[in-house]
Amino acid sequence: MADHADIPTSMCPICGYVMDAATVADGGPPVVPKDGDMSVCLKCGTILIFVDGIHLRLATPDEVVACPDAAEVSEQVRRYVRSLPRKPGERGQSSGRA
Ligand SMILES: [Zn+2]
Repeated sequence: MADHADIPTSMCPICGYVMDAATVADGGPPVVPKDGDMSVCLKCGTILIFVDGIHLRLATPDEVVACPDAAEVSEQVRRYVRSLPRKPGERGQSSGRA
């Protein structure tokens, strides 16, 4: 059984990372996200919300506060991405807000 669900191609509105699969954060069986479900971009760690079954938008501060696990997952993704070796010529990550 696959560990992810195939989803329509979606793009992170912050970094442009293209996503075509979804994995349940707690390791549960794969499910296709529905409108209002939360996601975290695997490239930049931005917390996102599925809308219209295909698009992703930024989560509002209220949505992030309502789901503290999302902030933790976002921070884990950001730490992981920062730990990856950079490719020659690749621009560094912004050191802006966490
Ligand atoms: Zn992103």
